[in-house]
Amino acid sequence: MTSASIRRERGFGAAGPIGSGPESVRENPAAVDRTVGVLTATLPSEVDDVVRAAAAAQHEWAATTIDERVRCLRAGADALARSDAVLGPVLAEELGKPLADSSGEMRFAAAFLRWVCDAAPRVCADTELDDAEGRVLIIRRPFGTVAAIVPWNAPLILSALKVAPAIATGNSIVVKPSPVAPFAVTAALSILAEQLPPGVLSVVHGGAEVGDALVSHQSVRKVAFTGGERVAQSVLAACAEQLTPTMLELGGNDPALLLDDLTFADDVMERLVFGVFLTSGQVCMAAKRIYVPNRRLDEFVDAFIAAAQRVLVCGDPMSPEVTIGPLATAEQRARVMGLVDHARAEGADVIDLGQTGPGFDPDRGYFLRPTLVRGAGADAPVVTEEQFGPTVPLIGYDSLDAGIAASNASEMALASSVWSDDPERAFAVGRKLEAGMTFINCHNRSGMSLRVPFGGMKRSGFGREFGEQGISEFTQTHALHLPASARRESGHRPNAYPT
Ligand code: NAD
Repeated sequence: MTSASIRRERGFGAAGPIGSGPESVRENPAAVDRTVGVLTATLPSEVDDVVRAAAAAQHEWAATTIDERVRCLRAGADALARSDAVLGPVLAEELGKPLADSSGEMRFAAAFLRWVCDAAPRVCADTELDDAEGRVLIIRRPFGTVAAIVPWNAPLILSALKVAPAIATGNSIVVKPSPVAPFAVTAALSILAEQLPPGVLSVVHGGAEVGDALVSHQSVRKVAFTGGERVAQSVLAACAEQLTPTMLELGGNDPALLLDDLTFADDVMERLVFGVFLTSGQVCMAAKRIYVPNRRLDEFVDAFIAAAQRVLVCGDPMSPEVTIGPLATAEQRARVMGLVDHARAEGADVIDLGQTGPGFDPDRGYFLRPTLVRGAGADAPVVTEEQFGPTVPLIGYDSLDAGIAASNASEMALASSVWSDDPERAFAVGRKLEAGMTFINCHNRSGMSLRVPFGGMKRSGFGREFGEQGISEFTQTHALHLPASARRESGHRPNAYPT
């Protein structure tokens, strides 16, 4: 890329573009000698300006009708949907996510916005009761100004999951994307912001210092965070200081539990391969441990290798045939290599998977060949940690109870999956898994639905995105109550408990 065409981005708020902090250069992870763009960070003092303006804008925004807010959001969704051809390649370049997946993420974000437009009026409707116990009116109110902190691996959809419900329900929102993939998401959010009053949707940029200035701002009334556990702890500590309500979407170490009756058919194996390796495994709800009955391990390995050979093509993310790009950063690549090397040194069998595209030079970027790790111990880091990369351990089990227990033996509990030729059996086993979501005969993207609540248990976080619950997370109830006992004609004692 020539210097003339290098993308430059900064944040924006009610008064337009903002940011006079340090610049950072983002390299293309598929060809690290190329620059994707230069990002100008927001100074913490500028974060204060942005949040104050967002808080001021929120009052008028909350006073509009839900129909008006949904009208603006729908116009934004239409504009976004028209931009996937332009912004998909930007996301592919900065993140290394294959082009079809990057453009697909844009369209998915627009589809989610439209879904919120349809569902929010239903979720926000008043609840009214008027009976012998009294009259109750429960209304849903926004929190005020929301701070959204998002990671790099799916920046468009992870922002949309916070922005759309927050805005539809009358909040204003300030988003801080990750410096690793800031360009497509900032462009997409500015397209959306054009359809909204100034200050309703803002973006700030930077790392920990800027994120901390945002979540600890006293005018922020709700924090929606997606990312890793370590940063979540620091965000929670900042929110504890201000008593700010928080939702956390954190990492996963998802088990895929294959039951003994499963036919290893081509389509089933291909769904599992993609369930593991989409975005080079850098997905919170990727399958990260595979459990297979011991007596079928050899058969499984053959079927999995064959499926990977058919569908995993490693190479330049801009090539249409490529399904596996590089990892996003050198650190991420080194971490995943460390997990695999450790397992190999302990005696595990590391099996290379997939094929490489023609003329592809993996040394130009942060590429890592996808692998299946067979024979790692239950305590090996490649099993117990979230790899967030293109490798997956294969673990055998004898009894179904042992398979379920091993699947549940993680402090993380985001998603999971059960695979069987008998869906009834899979649902029954799924009930026994500890997870926010259990997919049946699929995992990861193929199991997602706009209407199904998404979020984790245990150390994978709390709060839900998607579905009606993902909208109501951005509202709080306000109950107005005239109890029967307070009616003049009731004759109740003024100090009586309700019965
Ligand atoms: P991260 O936790 O390092 O960073 C997340 C965001 O927090 C970034 O924008 C970062 O700049 C910001 N940040 C850093 N320090 C901060 C601070 N002190 N205060 C406020 N903000 C701060 O995560 P990452 O490496 O960007 O993303 C990978 C992690 O995200 C993985 O663990 C993955 O599983 C998780 N994730 C979870 C979900 C989900 O829905 N559960 C979805 C995608 C990713």
